[in-house]
Amino acid sequence: MIALTLDRIAEITQSRIHGSAHPADVVTGPVVIDSRQAVPGALFVALGGERVDGHDFADAAVAAGATAVLGSRPLAAPQLLVDGGDAEVVAALGRLASAVLAELPGTEVIGVTGSSGKTTTKDLLAQVLGRLGPTVAPAGSFNNEIGHPLTVLRADENTRHVVLEVAARGVGHIAYLCGIAPPRIGVVLNVGSAHMGEFGSREAIAQAKGELVEALPEAAAGGVAVLNADDPAVIAMTARTTARVVSFGRGEDADVRARDVQVAADGRAAFTLEIGGHAAPVRLAVLGEHQVHNALAVAAVAAELGMPVADIAAALGEAGPVSRWRMEVTDRRDGVTVVNDAYNANPESMAAALRTLAALARQRRSVAVLGIMAELGAAHRAEHERLGRLAAETGVGCIVAVGEKAAPIVDGARSVTGWQGEVRQVSDPAQAVEALRGLLRPDDIVLVKGSRVAGLEKVAEQLTAEE
Ligand code: ATP
Ligand code: MG
Repeated sequence: MIALTLDRIAEITQSRIHGSAHPADVVTGPVVIDSRQAVPGALFVALGGERVDGHDFADAAVAAGATAVLGSRPLAAPQLLVDGGDAEVVAALGRLASAVLAELPGTEVIGVTGSSGKTTTKDLLAQVLGRLGPTVAPAGSFNNEIGHPLTVLRADENTRHVVLEVAARGVGHIAYLCGIAPPRIGVVLNVGSAHMGEFGSREAIAQAKGELVEALPEAAAGGVAVLNADDPAVIAMTARTTARVVSFGRGEDADVRARDVQVAADGRAAFTLEIGGHAAPVRLAVLGEHQVHNALAVAAVAAELGMPVADIAAALGEAGPVSRWRMEVTDRRDGVTVVNDAYNANPESMAAALRTLAALARQRRSVAVLGIMAELGAAHRAEHERLGRLAAETGVGCIVAVGEKAAPIVDGARSVTGWQGEVRQVSDPAQAVEALRGLLRPDDIVLVKGSRVAGLEKVAEQLTAEE
């Protein structure tokens, strides 16, 4: 973070100097919401959680060296006091982030949105751009109105790029996040049915995701929209932006293209990357064919920022997932392979994972431990039946459906005529582990995947530990 006096922060955040705070005292960063992360020079932001109130930890933060506390409840500690409640504190945090960013004209902000693959793409992009210069990116899916400003506030005069995962929780949400940190380059990966329950329709999801391209500067001011040419709902966003459009995809027409895509036995995709008149071979370090599009989006941004195609190809070959529980492959001593993709799930990412499982399995028996996909609303039954059918159709040998609401997965699988596999429903992750002890055979390959609420990482971790 750049150093700021409390006086200046009060002015930016529209808060008041309160308690034992001195206007000339300086915050050098980091800005934290967890008092255990406070160090000398930090600014502790006190938010009221569901069970705990951050204000109760203000003294601990100050004892650890924090210069001041930004909060809404008057404290004896050095404080910047905001009128109102939590929402005003969050808004103040946003104002601080945009003011800091405005003082860093040499820092490029890149926003990534889409229904699936935001975190993966953000992680790959941060690693590739890290080769061009210091890059700040959030850990994991820290992508909301709190995570976003906290990430931005890590930037300082040396930072060349800030890579942000921009998630849409509702209409207007991406517009708000882009107001805090206006991106010059915006990436839209895909429009799927994640969060269908919240938005109601795919069109509404596309509408919300498109707020990213609407927030970009116009082409003459350097704005660039990086759009997936293979997703009609994404490339249609061309009409909603005044930024220059750079398309990526597997077809001849895309500006950034993958030619001759092949997925090797280890699940890694290889292709020829083509940008302008230049081409270079790429072999990805991450697993699954769906990663080709994520990699192309990364390549498009890196090329925009001046990276030569050969360097992009080399960097992509070494960039791995840094966020946990995403296609983490572990070979057990007994020959069983566990693929832990338990971080999250929606219909598109389930399909991508099942295809990757089929590619990895080859002659081996595959086992799919499938939890429910949350937030599908009225589409719950139909989507889970479709998932069960797809699992059977892609040749899964054994399906374990986890959760009380997972019954349609079983129905879907059983509806596939000619499928010889086994299918079973259990009520929770513990029962899944128990069932798998009896079902697994040496040489099986097991995919574990479900929405966050399904908690299947427990199953994956238990399976991995049982060598
Ligand atoms: P969230 O909204 O939960 O933050 P996200 O968009 O950040 O999700 P990731 O965490 O990167 O997405 O990936 C989630 C799942 O989607 C993983 O299981 C991953 O294998 C799969 N996935 C990643 N990229 C794609 C893609 N381009 N198309 C379909 N599925 C994908
Ligand atoms: Mg994410």
